[in-house]
Amino acid sequence: MPQKFDYIIIGSGLAGLQLAYRLSEDPFFQKLQIAIIDPSAKDTNDKTWCFWEKGDGKWDNLITKSWDHGKFISTETNLDLELKPYSYKMLKSIDFYNFVKSELKNTSNFHFILDEIIEIDEDNSTALGKNDTYIATHFFDSRIDSDYLEDSKSTKIFQHFKGLHIKTSASVFDESTFTMMDFRIKFPDSTSFTYVLPLSEDEALIEYTFFTPFLTEESIYNTYLHTYIKEILKIEEYEIIDTEKGVIPMTDYAFHKASSPKVTKIGTAGSWVKGSTGYSFKHTEKKIAQLVENIKSGKEPQGNILNVRSRWYDAIFLDVLNRNNELGEQLFTKFYTNNTPQEIFKYLDEETAILEELKIMISMYHSEFIRSFLRKLF
Ligand SMILES: Cc1cc2nc3c(=O)[nH]c(=O)nc-3n(C[C@H](O)[C@H](O)[C@H](O)COP(=O)(O)OP(=O)(O)OC[C@H]3O[C@@H](n4cnc5c(N)ncnc54)[C@H](O)[C@@H]3O)c2cc1C
Repeated sequence: MPQKFDYIIIGSGLAGLQLAYRLSEDPFFQKLQIAIIDPSAKDTNDKTWCFWEKGDGKWDNLITKSWDHGKFISTETNLDLELKPYSYKMLKSIDFYNFVKSELKNTSNFHFILDEIIEIDEDNSTALGKNDTYIATHFFDSRIDSDYLEDSKSTKIFQHFKGLHIKTSASVFDESTFTMMDFRIKFPDSTSFTYVLPLSEDEALIEYTFFTPFLTEESIYNTYLHTYIKEILKIEEYEIIDTEKGVIPMTDYAFHKASSPKVTKIGTAGSWVKGSTGYSFKHTEKKIAQLVENIKSGKEPQGNILNVRSRWYDAIFLDVLNRNNELGEQLFTKFYTNNTPQEIFKYLDEETAILEELKIMISMYHSEFIRSFLRKLF
């Protein structure tokens, strides 16, 4: 007999666990039986999540480190970013997984199942897994439609990176300031930069990042990371404690269109990763709050979750980067030079009004935006 639930959450990653935790906090869902299905037990630290927010936040008990100051560095500028009232926070995924799993294990209505879902049969309200079959009235699904790479209409670039968590023999880092983007060491004709999260005076996570239409080999990241550490940070001796690698889709592909009355796509699969930045941690929290309100007021869970205007701006920006990848440094320099960090965060959080958005657009103006606007329009 298939196992029966009210809701099934497919995927216990960022979106799946944030959703499950949010449902567990609300008495409205107390009587529902909810399964969380993933082939992975999520017992490794597979990601370092960073995000900004104003003041105290929901995950503060899990934060490894936070910063009130940042830097933006390009070949022509070196900016100090005073973030207050925002702060930039870092959280290890393993701390998040362990916390949410342990909280949910204290409940009687959340059930973790190790299985890989192969398909959902909506007519029979059934999810077919490799080990078992599951029935539910609604599915929240974090599986990505892998065909998206074949879609010819959308713009697809990748945020891909490798990070080294290093420990130095001397005290070299200013742990009060992180580096959002440093363009001084750049892969030719590309949007590529270094991102530095100092954890103490002798420890930091240093990531070499690309926003490009192409992926690259491991040796390229290694070369650029070691060059940055040696030539920019002037560090000769260090030990690599850990590494991190990742690829995040930066796209205007409408993943969320795969949602249906019985299946709500969530996380990356619900278009919750911001196309122009690859950030999704804080967006996920906000989208889930909206999704829960929708359910409680009898609406479709995914209704009105995405900001159409912001998706449109992101699509234009991505098209510019896709066609003129070498422009990245210039565009980000204008973005950070002509706007305050508070204006930037508000815009990226999709909380700005049209006039504020217009100011940002003017501040970044390049004729290629007009071409991309027209390309995306027709
Ligand atoms: C290395 C890395 C670092 C990142 N850093 C940041 C950051 O600093 N800040 C930020 O905002 N964003 C960051 N992101 C982007 C984004 O936040 C993450 O990708 C985020 O994990 C997306 O959430 P998700 O739930 O969609 O996907 P995931 O967290 O990847 O979860 C998806 C889950 O679905 C499961 N799954 C897949 N297929 C099946 C199946 N068939 N059946 C059942 N389960 C399945 C997977 O095992 C996985 O556990 C980062 C991404 C990466 C890769």
